[in-house]
Amino acid sequence: MRYAVSYKCGHTAMTAVLGSEESRNKRIAQLETGDCSRCWTANQLPQFTLPTRAKGCRIYVKHGFAIREDLRARGYCFGTVTRSWTKNLATADEVEFELLWIGERGFELQELGKER
Ligand SMILES: [Zn+2]
Repeated sequence: MRYAVSYKCGHTAMTAVLGSEESRNKRIAQLETGDCSRCWTANQLPQFTLPTRAKGCRIYVKHGFAIREDLRARGYCFGTVTRSWTKNLATADEVEFELLWIGERGFELQELGKER
């Protein structure tokens, strides 16, 4: 069944809730403690991951929805399976340039396999 759930963010949204009456009531009470899906998505902070700094590497972005226009403009592509944005970085300069931009914007960056 679909219920009008009043979310913490102030929005009310028709939300499908299944199960017995008891579990539906529990689920609705739980949903009301959080933001609606639109606000939740908008509030997710973008998280960049660079698995390796090697030539021809690829950078990944999770929770990029709020900055999707920026990402698109910078050549990132969204993968519907991975739910991530990715961009291929062909040269060391491209890597440095991208890391500079990420740093300037204050986004979170996780570098895996970074050489020490
Ligand atoms: Zn909302």
